Order: sequence, then structure tokens, then C-alpha cells
Amino acid sequence: MNSRPQSLVIVGGGFAGVRLIRALGRTASRLKVTLVDRRREAVFLPLLPDVVAGKVSLERLLFPLDKFCRRRGVEFINRSALRLAGSNTLVLDGGRELHFDYLVLAAGAEPNFHGNREAREFGFTLAGKEDAARLRRRLEEVISGRPGHTFLVVGGGYTGVETASALVYAGRQAAGSGSPPFTVRILELAPQILGNLPEAIAVPARREVERLGIGVSLSARIGEIGKDRVEVDGEVIEDCTLIWSAGMKAVDLGGGEDFPRDRQGRLEVNEDLRLPGAGHIFALGDTACFRDGESPLRMAVQFSWAEGIRTARNLRRLARGRQPRPYRPIDYGYLIPCASGKAWGLILGVRVGGRFGSFFHYFMCVLRTLSWKNRLLLILELAGLKRRRW
Ligand SMILES: Cc1cc2nc3c(=O)[nH]c(=O)nc-3n(C[C@H](O)[C@H](O)[C@H](O)COP(=O)(O)OP(=O)(O)OC[C@H]3O[C@@H](n4cnc5c(N)ncnc54)[C@H](O)[C@@H]3O)c2cc1C
Repeated sequence: MNSRPQSLVIVGGGFAGVRLIRALGRTASRLKVTLVDRRREAVFLPLLPDVVAGKVSLERLLFPLDKFCRRRGVEFINRSALRLAGSNTLVLDGGRELHFDYLVLAAGAEPNFHGNREAREFGFTLAGKEDAARLRRRLEEVISGRPGHTFLVVGGGYTGVETASALVYAGRQAAGSGSPPFTVRILELAPQILGNLPEAIAVPARREVERLGIGVSLSARIGEIGKDRVEVDGEVIEDCTLIWSAGMKAVDLGGGEDFPRDRQGRLEVNEDLRLPGAGHIFALGDTACFRDGESPLRMAVQFSWAEGIRTARNLRRLARGRQPRPYRPIDYGYLIPCASGKAWGLILGVRVGGRFGSFFHYFMCVLRTLSWKNRLLLILELAGLKRRRW
């Protein structure tokens, strides 16, 4: 009998990867588990706009992966996974090759520049800890500089609206009773912001955008982008910062060209989150396109989290020679938070809004924060009882 433990390699220690490792529990000792992540910490992405707003410290969002792995008997490799080579080998940067019996791809998503090279070169984004720190630094420079600066947020989806409101909040905090030393404008290609939401949720959120004094340009065409200058609908705006918030796409791990993907580059998975034709490879979270009926699940923490748990159970079943069980997603809803302390959305099919919506958003964030220490300090910071640091 072959007693060699089977090897499981997980790419990405975000919501899906961490939840998977936690849910594996003791099974991890029967599998040789390796986590590969290009960062040393998992980052709690939903609170990045709050870091920009100055409401929470960046360090409250960070969860060290090496310590986490050590406690669970999991090997941690702090490297980028580059590509698949054949059916059982993963190549890391630096050329190291990892062989696996099972592979879980949970590498998350990154900004989609839709091929716009200037936006990539000159624009800011808000999709990681470095982005939040860089944008916060820019904001502080602008606040201490000459008035007249403009923040241009490209994309009027929920992240764009959240980011714009965070900038306004920070400006108002800095200005006290005066007016903020900069203006914020959302540039949306579509005829409306938050256009993919039901009107009952989008309308009050748009009203809040207006109340906050955020300018909105609809059906906006962006022309040339340079350092500190952007052409919008033929007009050149000088002394501005461009923040690219026009969509996300799955992180692309090369070598898997044979696997079908959706428009966001996400890997199509079957009902138990495995790749069609490769029963030993799973894709989870933002990397996966899981179709609940015809419609694909959106990128959200709750699905990444639940997919991690389902996959841990299925790996356990496979280790015992059983068939995996299908993933049955439950959609608890969503919220669009504004830094002004209001949020709108749908929770368990019920429309919620205003201050209660915002309270619920932060409650869920605290609940999903990955360590007890961060959870406690986050509560103190949100309640204004502890100083924030950036
Ligand atoms: C600003 C912002 C606000 C958001 N707000 C909300 C919200 O309010 N509610 C909500 O539900 N969702 C929100 N989301 C989306 C949510 O954060 C994602 O759906 C969720 O993080 C996906 O989890 P994941 O495990 O798939 O990926 P992630 O949590 O992104 O983790 C991916 C991990 O993979 C690692 N990685 C990436 N590439 C490689 C590589 N090549 N090699 C090795 N490691 C790699 C990364 O370092 C990272 O640790 C928000 C996202 C952003 C950016």
C-alpha cells in the first residue's frame, strides 16, 4: 500500500484560501498542504476605502500568513505562482516547480485596465494594501498643497462610489468647517452610475453621491491620460489624480489556456468547483466563475468564504475515496457603503438603507476579520476610541 500523503497546493491565501485551510482542520495532517502567496499577509479588501478615508489603520486589515500556516502545519511559500506546466506541476517565480496531487486556485482578482496602458501607468487603483497606502499618501499631499486639485474616479460601480465618498470624507475631516481643498468627480462610461443595481437601491445611493458634492460625468469618454492630467470628453483636466475603478478581472495564471473562462477571465468551474476535464484542480473565489443556474456569482467575500469550506469538505471526501458534493451557494445579499456613514443594499432579500445599512456593513466586516486581535482593535478604531495609523 502506498502511504505517501497526497499533496495539496493552494495558490492564494485570501478569503477562500484561508477559509479552506481553517476548514481542513485535522485533515491537513493527512494531506501535505502548501500555501503559495505572493504576499506575506492576507488583506481584508472591503475596508480599503476606509483606510483612504482615515477611518481605520491599514495594519488592522492585515493577517500574517506565515504564522497562520505554521500553527496549522501548512508549508508557506512566499512567491508568485506563474503558470501550470503539464497537469501536475506549478511553476513559481524563480523557477521552482511544485508537484501536486490536488491544486486549488484562489488567487483573487486585479484591476482590469481594458488594455489602457496610460491608465495602468499613471492611474491609482484600490485593490491591495500598497494601493491604499499610495492613495492615502497622495490624498495627504493634496490636502497639504494648493487648492484646486481634482480626484477623477473612473467607474461608477460600487467600488468607485465607495472610493469617491472616502475621498470626500477625508477632505471634510481635514477642512473642518471649511470646504475640502479638492473636488471629486466620478467618470462613468454608461448612462448612469450604479446602473446594474435595482433602482430602489441605486436611487438613494445616487442621491447620497449628489449630497456629498461628488460630481458625476455620465457617458464620459476618456481620452489621453498623462501624469496629473486627463482628457475627458475633449476637455483637458490639469492637476488631477486618476483613480481607476472600472472593473476587476481574475488574476491570470498562465498555462491553463485549455480551460474555459468568462469575460472577467474567471475559470469556469463545474458544480463542485473543479475545472471541467481536470478533476484534481479546483478554482475558488474571484478566480472562479460558478454559475448558479445561468447567472454567474459575483465577486464577493461570502462566496469565497463558502467555497473554501465546501472545498475542504470535498477534499476530505476525495481522500476517503468518496465523490465530492456540489456547492450550493446562498446569497445573503450585498451593501453599497458610503464613508458618510450610510449604506444601501439587499440583505436576505430585504432592502436596507441609511445608517442601519452602514452599521450592518461594519458588523459583517468585523465578523469576517481574520484574527481576534484585529477584530477587537477594529471595533475600537471604528468607534473612535483608538488612534489610527497609516
Ligand atoms: C476595494 C474593494 C472593496 C470590496 N468590498 C467588498 C464588500 O464590501 N463586500 C464583498 O463581499 N466583497 C467586496 N470586495 C470583493 C472581495 O474582497 C473579493 O471578492 C474577495 O477578496 C475574493 O476573495 P479571494 O479569496 O478570491 O481573493 P483575495 O481575497 O483577493 O485573495 C487572493 C490572494 O491570492 C494572492 N495571489 C494573487 N496572485 C497570486 C499569484 N500569482 N501567486 C501567488 N499568490 C497570488 C494574493 O496575494 C491574495 O492574498 C471588495 C474588493 C475590493 C478590491
